[in-house]
Amino acid sequence: MEYDYDFFVIGAGSGGVRASRMSSVYGARVAICEDRYLGGTCVNVGCVPKKLYVYASEYSAHFKESKGFGWHSEQVKFDWLTLRDNKTAEINRLNGIYNDLLDNAEVDVINGRGKIIDAHTVEVNGNKYTTERILIAVGGWPYIPDFLGKEHAISSNEVFDLEEFPQRIVVVGGGYIAVEFAGIFNGLGSNVTQLYRGNLFLRGFDDEVRSFAAQEIAKKGVDIRFNADVKSIEKLSDGSLKVTLTDHSSIITDTVLYATGRKPQLANLGLENVNINLNDRGYIEVNDSFQTSESSIYALGDVTGGMELTPVALEEGIALARSLFNNESCKIDYSNIATTVFCQPNIATVGMTEQQAHSAYTNVVKYRSSFKAMKHSISGSQEKTLMKLLVDGNSNKIIGAHMVGENAGEIMQGIAIAIKSGATKADFDATVGIHPTAAEEFVTMRTPVQE
Ligand code: NDP
Repeated sequence: MEYDYDFFVIGAGSGGVRASRMSSVYGARVAICEDRYLGGTCVNVGCVPKKLYVYASEYSAHFKESKGFGWHSEQVKFDWLTLRDNKTAEINRLNGIYNDLLDNAEVDVINGRGKIIDAHTVEVNGNKYTTERILIAVGGWPYIPDFLGKEHAISSNEVFDLEEFPQRIVVVGGGYIAVEFAGIFNGLGSNVTQLYRGNLFLRGFDDEVRSFAAQEIAKKGVDIRFNADVKSIEKLSDGSLKVTLTDHSSIITDTVLYATGRKPQLANLGLENVNINLNDRGYIEVNDSFQTSESSIYALGDVTGGMELTPVALEEGIALARSLFNNESCKIDYSNIATTVFCQPNIATVGMTEQQAHSAYTNVVKYRSSFKAMKHSISGSQEKTLMKLLVDGNSNKIIGAHMVGENAGEIMQGIAIAIKSGATKADFDATVGIHPTAAEEFVTMRTPVQE
């Protein structure tokens, strides 16, 4: 049977766009449909605008710290609408670039939400398209739990485009998004309260990193409250919001940002028309070739519930295109993927946490350094940096690297290459440092921590 397409991709986010472009380059006839914006979460309401806002928020510390270096900048003033609208212009530019990339790759772009009709048919805007294979790359969507007054809370989808700058904001959650936005609004000048339901935020990160980051973020002025949860939100007559916590205390604020995780975006996708299994967390189950239980349908990226990171979705998109249309292997090595939380200071990590290292290895050697960066000798800032290396004492291999400090994300990318290449502690020791940098500390830690 002749299909309209070889490959029909639902969702033009990081993974979908990459898979469709590469597949087309390999000679497949490809269509992609999208009902919102090209580039998906990352470009529109995620990584890209977030990083622009992180840059914006860092200036306040720069202005403050510049005094010790002789600068006078008392008149500084922040204008939210300038930031917001410049951000929007940049995102529009990127949307255009995505469109051009797809056009140049001769991928048919269809505007509208795709619904799977059967294992080889997708319907968009009432038109049916037949295809040999389908890729589901629809990503995730913010999840806000149910509570009284939920309608007054916003998610990361809305936070980028607020009409007014919130002088006071409550951020709920203790994951990447909550910690990053608490830092953004704190840096931009809001009065920020962050509420996390557990003892210590950033579950899954190294414990020492988590508590060090909590201390540093609190020093910057975020009012972090652990073991705190929201009972209700009420809108007051002056437009402000009253957040009542489960311990009956309350906070008056302008905006409540919920960053309590994301869920796969499966509604109205037509999954009931095919035989696709979901895993126990509700994500689409795939084998290591990204194939679902319906053999002509594939899925990748956030909708499969793996590491919800753009570079992971991109890798998966490339791997799938190569295997389907270029006869190459599509196995991805998910070990040692570096990641950064863009809070202030950054948290960056690659490899195992100390807790994971102890359960995987019998002889874990730990190196740790905590110091005040040279810049802060005269900046007036009390910010401290933490660096940590975990070594398998038997093989001498580095099995984990962690940093809390300025530019940790930039530094960790290089460390990740070393760890991915199997570097040993001896290799780190034999590497001559770049002086004066903070990063050189990673090659000068010589004495293991005895605990
Ligand atoms: P995360 O899963 O990272 O964090 C969710 C947070 O919300 C956790 O602290 C969780 O607590 C808490 N939570 C969950 N349910 C509730 C509830 N009912 N009430 C109160 N708190 C709750 O999700 P995010 O939304 O922060 O981010 C989604 C994903 O996006 C991340 O996991 C990451 O993969 C990706 N991302 C990556 C970024 C980067 O690379 N820099 C930036 C932003 C996002 P608990 O731990 O107790 O379960």
